[in-house]
Order: sequence, then structure tokens, then C-alpha cells
Amino acid sequence: MEQKRKGIIIAIDGPAGAGKSSVASEVAQKLGYSHLDTGSMYRGATYFLIKRNIPMEKENENQVLDELKKMKIDMIDNRILINEEDTTPFIRTKEVEKFVSWVSSLPGVRKILVQKQREIAREGGFVLDGRDIGTQVCPDAELKIFLSASPEIRVKRRYLQLKGKAELDFIRKDLKRRDEYDKNRKAGPLQPAEDAIFLDSSHLTRKQVVEKIVRWAQEVIEN
Ligand code: C5P
Repeated sequence: MEQKRKGIIIAIDGPAGAGKSSVASEVAQKLGYSHLDTGSMYRGATYFLIKRNIPMEKENENQVLDELKKMKIDMIDNRILINEEDTTPFIRTKEVEKFVSWVSSLPGVRKILVQKQREIAREGGFVLDGRDIGTQVCPDAELKIFLSASPEIRVKRRYLQLKGKAELDFIRKDLKRRDEYDKNRKAGPLQPAEDAIFLDSSHLTRKQVVEKIVRWAQEVIEN
């Protein structure tokens, strides 16, 4: 007998620094849903490779994929466990950010992680945030949002989030570089799904963004 789903799937995609993760987490809380931050899975995989001193360059793609086959990745309440070790405190560093876009551009890496993300969200009642949720991970999601903000506002938000651990100029260059990588890669590029709602959060507070998405979600759930 088919299992009853726990709720709808809400996909929130968009560029770095748009506020996706904090918005997704609050939306999930308000609806009594779970939240999956898929970016932390790509960060976790990158951290795993750095720890093993695996050179992250094009000529080494096969070794990267072989190493990742030894990686067991689990998400528990958005804490990222790699081979049972909680790596959450180590994934938001400059070093991880330097390599994560390259790692996530490899089709073999995306295949492993997309499959895991689908498994996690299978029962529904999930808000997932990332770059390719509405297009690749959950193309059947009942509600898809493409959340963005102007580049300068994204830089400022990221600066505040990092609590002074990186300079504005570094963040500006890093976001630009990661956006370009994410948009131009062949596998799972950053692009809005055809049926996504665009939401520009440049002049909205986080609370206003959350309220809008919760309202849209409730409309979908009730109909
Ligand atoms: O969202 P966050 O900035 O933590 O994501 C880190 C990196 O992981 C992004 O720059 C992007 O390259 C990659 N990513 C991805 N697909 C996702 C989520 C994140 O390629 N679904």
C-alpha cells in the first residue's frame, strides 16, 4: 500500500547570499515541515576531499569521484555527518568556498548528492534549498520559489552572516565567482524552473519573505 505523504515539497533556489537557507528553515518551522540545506552537502563533500588532501583540479576528476565513493553522507537536523563525523562546524570556511563550486560542477558528484537529496525528501513535508531543486532534485515540487536579491545586498547579508570572518571585497569576488560557476556549468546549473515564482528579496525583510512563502504554501496545501 502506498504510504501517505507527510506534506508538499517546497523548492527554494537562487544565487549565493539570497538568504535561502534561513528563509527555508523558518518556512519549514512555521509549517511543521523539515528543512534540507543542500548547499551544506556540497560543502561537506568538499571538506571531505580537502581533509584527504585530494588535489581539486580537472586532471584529477577520477580520483575525486573514487574518493567520494568512500564517503557516507547523512543529514540529521541539517547537521552534516560524513562517515559519522559531524562536519557542520568546518564547512563554512574560505577554503571550502574556494573549491565547492568546482566540486559541485562535476556530474558524478551531483549524481550522488541529488540521489541522496531525493531519498531524504521522498515522504514530503520538506523545504529544500539549493540551486537545482526545482529543476533536477524535485521537478514535481508543488511550490517552487526562485529567491534572489541585488548583488550588493547579497554581499552585505553574507558579510553579516560571516560575522566579520571575511572582508567585503573578498565576499564580493567570491559570490561573483560562485554565481558564474553555478550558472554556467552543464550539470544542474543555477536556473529558475519554468514554473517557479520569482521573489526579489532586496527590499524585503526576512520576516516578509517568510510570510509570503508560507501564504503561498498554505494556498497550495488547501487546494
Ligand atoms: O548554498 P551554499 O552557498 O551553501 O552552497 C555552496 C555551493 O554548493 C554553491 O556555491 C554551489 O556551487 C553548490 N550547490 C549546488 N547545488 C545545490 C546547492 C549548492 O551546486 N543544490
